[in-house]
Amino acid sequence: MYLFDTHAHPHLCTDTPLNALVDRAKAAGLVGMMSVAIDLDSARDAIQQSEHYPGFIWPTAGIHPTSVADDDQITELEAIIQAHDVYAIGECGLDFYRDTNPSAGLQTDYFRAQLDIAKRYDLPVIIHARHADAELVPILLDYPDVPKVIHCFSSPWSVVEALLDTATWFSFTGIVTYTQYDPEVVERLPLHRMMIETDCPYLTPLSHRGTANEPAFVSAICSQIAAIKSLTPETVAAATTQTAIDFFKLPTAVPAT
Ligand SMILES: [Zn+2]
Repeated sequence: MYLFDTHAHPHLCTDTPLNALVDRAKAAGLVGMMSVAIDLDSARDAIQQSEHYPGFIWPTAGIHPTSVADDDQITELEAIIQAHDVYAIGECGLDFYRDTNPSAGLQTDYFRAQLDIAKRYDLPVIIHARHADAELVPILLDYPDVPKVIHCFSSPWSVVEALLDTATWFSFTGIVTYTQYDPEVVERLPLHRMMIETDCPYLTPLSHRGTANEPAFVSAICSQIAAIKSLTPETVAAATTQTAIDFFKLPTAVPAT
């Protein structure tokens, strides 16, 4: 079984050294993971990690909506993209969960600027959206052909429906293992539009509750999605891994079974 974690934050997994995270991920059947940036520093970290684990850790560069500020991080972001191989822009998006978050105007400016960069450099986008469905959908409809994945997707089916005709994928975390999870979206969404992710160190799957999340635990999310969709974990693993490799245009192939 070959698994891929499309959304990990190794630089935030401070409980565990990176080599242990990678060893345990490989032992759990992972063939790779995206190291997802939340700001310029973590983008540089992700690039460094990918140099230590070539072909396994793939870096992204982007500015999370809670990392935006009244300065010009976009120029530097573009410089990073020009100087290094990165495989996605992100995570970027909108987060209106806390009143203390940056203003909607600033978040929107940064989000659109990053979608524009993705379009210009032919890169896919990893999107973070929290309490922002109403604002998110019209922005994404302005970029129908830019490949994008909404990470930690936990919005209702109506949001999927609004975006199904655009180049949008939906990625699921350990939230699908929680007892209060409503499985409707996972049931209805075609497998080929799905990806799986840990978002580690956050959102530990139920089966590993009490420990920090890590890429190895993506297998628990795979199993839960398989159970909801009445498929085998092998089928879900093979499909979501291939989708991730194609989406991020990774110069790698899934090892033959
Ligand atoms: Zn994240």
